[in-house]
Amino acid sequence: MLSTHGLQAFYGDAQALFGIDFEVEAGELVAIIGANGAGKSTFLKALCGLVKAPRDAIRFKGEPVGGLAPGEIVRRGLALVPEGRRLFPSLSVEENLLMGANSRRAGPWNLRRVYELFPVLLEKRRQPGTSLSGGQQQMVAIGRALMSNPELLLCDELSLGLAPIVIREIYAALPKITQEGMTAVVVEQDVQMAQQVSQRLYCFQEGKVSLSGASSSVTREQVARAYFGV
Ligand code: ATP
Repeated sequence: MLSTHGLQAFYGDAQALFGIDFEVEAGELVAIIGANGAGKSTFLKALCGLVKAPRDAIRFKGEPVGGLAPGEIVRRGLALVPEGRRLFPSLSVEENLLMGANSRRAGPWNLRRVYELFPVLLEKRRQPGTSLSGGQQQMVAIGRALMSNPELLLCDELSLGLAPIVIREIYAALPKITQEGMTAVVVEQDVQMAQQVSQRLYCFQEGKVSLSGASSSVTREQVARAYFGV
């Protein structure tokens, strides 16, 4: 579905990614773990056109897409749930969800399906999105991304600032989404959660892949070494 080959990324003169080789196949849920500053967010931003990348370094459904405008990449079937949720503060829950339908593609996701996935959002649909709890805001951010009917969903740190019980609730939604045939890449600092929900994982360290493999077979020691470089 999506692959990168030797992907490099820069902020001005500062290099953030040093040749990332990555692959996610249709229907897979792949996790990316790694310490602060390892380059995980930069990688997701490069995939969706928010950070510049050479055209051939990223292929989506067989086509080179590196450096395309974010709107064009969304139209081709990729959506991002950004770090920190980024809801529109003046809009209600439902209006926030509808913003995701601006670049709507044909597919199963609509308001009714999002409310089935997260019933609490139906109850609160007329409230300002930012008046909800952190976990509920995260549900809105996921729902908004689903409203464009992406084939590939990218999620950046879904667990950020949330209590463990809320994190479990949010993550319980992911298999329901991928069961419908969607592919997902989740960036996650919570290694245990990342390992539980994903089929494969990558660990980034200082802008490089330090470990990749089946999530069920990588050991705690391997992760510790790949994460901290010890
Ligand atoms: P975190 O979990 O803290 O978000 P991360 O793994 O997502 O970490 P990135 O945010 O991708 O890491 O950062 C990778 C590197 O790029 C870091 O050295 C960071 O300081 C740098 N960086 C990130 N964003 C910018 C920016 N807008 N301008 C300059 N440098 C940046």
